[in-house]
Amino acid sequence: MPEGDTIFRISENLGRYMIQKSVTKIYIRAVPYAQEILLGKKIDDVTSIGKNLFIVFEGDVILRSHSKMFGTWHLYSHGVTWKRSARNVVAIIEAGDVVAVAFDVPLIQLGRGVERTLGTFRTELGSDLIRGDIDVEVAFERFKQFSKDVLVGEALLDQRVVSGIGNIYRCETLFKTRISPYRPASSISVEELGAMLEVARVNLNFNARENSNLKRIFDDEVEGTFVYGRGGLPCHICGKKVIRKVMGAPSERVPRPIFYCPNCQL
Ligand SMILES: [Zn+2]
Repeated sequence: MPEGDTIFRISENLGRYMIQKSVTKIYIRAVPYAQEILLGKKIDDVTSIGKNLFIVFEGDVILRSHSKMFGTWHLYSHGVTWKRSARNVVAIIEAGDVVAVAFDVPLIQLGRGVERTLGTFRTELGSDLIRGDIDVEVAFERFKQFSKDVLVGEALLDQRVVSGIGNIYRCETLFKTRISPYRPASSISVEELGAMLEVARVNLNFNARENSNLKRIFDDEVEGTFVYGRGGLPCHICGKKVIRKVMGAPSERVPRPIFYCPNCQL
């Protein structure tokens, strides 16, 4: 699942090559009239808020995409073979010397009112861990509003708390702060939440600004992840087996694997 750092990198890449360029070809599967509105229009901005990507066109038009679990955007030069099948294409935007292609992105919306749209997302979503300062108090308020049966491992995926944390960062953040994903969200102190958000912020920012798309370094000592994707393997700290179970987000109840060390995390 793309996380805040991935979407940030995609938005930086698209922005670098497409801002101030005019749209020469456009196809959006979910928006059949996109061509009438956007062909020939200049791209004014590309930005992200949490895991939402926004492309702003002249004429106060804004495209929002959310990649959910499997969607992604690729950027290609003309004539380069695409890395995914054309069958999975849901949007194509050609501008300048490049073409941006969305594969399997389930949510693409087009609307008018750029400031209003961005304002709404900035208000509804928690602090963006990549683009702004973290407001721990606001995040804590939202944490306290969860019902008693919501676990911290579920709550961290809720983008109204803070935006940008996906499954990898939730697992790694909980491990690095030694907090079990099974603790009730309501039992987390403001200090513990602050520590978790700081760990997530540092790691997201580090990875967002690295050139590599694949390497995620979470510590000087360990390259790769501490627990994510390591079910059944020994914990890097204590040697006990890392556990893999299933735990989604409170709002979507999508089952996602969660990885943790039963010995290091309490
Ligand atoms: Zn351990």
